[in-house]
Amino acid sequence: MGYWEDLELAWWDTNVVNCSFCGQMIPKRRWVSEVEGEVRSFCSLDCEELYVNYWVPKHGHGVPARKVD
Ligand SMILES: [Zn+2]
Repeated sequence: MGYWEDLELAWWDTNVVNCSFCGQMIPKRRWVSEVEGEVRSFCSLDCEELYVNYWVPKHGHGVPARKVD
């Protein structure tokens, strides 16, 4: 369960939000969801689903799920 949150980042704001699953920068709107007690930000519902159903069972929620290029 989660909710959409609009990000109002000013140009001087360096607090860039990245998706917890794919690691992409989230420019305008993030999906905020609590996963096993930890609040995570996602770029899409798909990423949340993949994170919860694929990443967490395999790697645990404490590991950043960013892809390695
Ligand atoms: Zn994502």
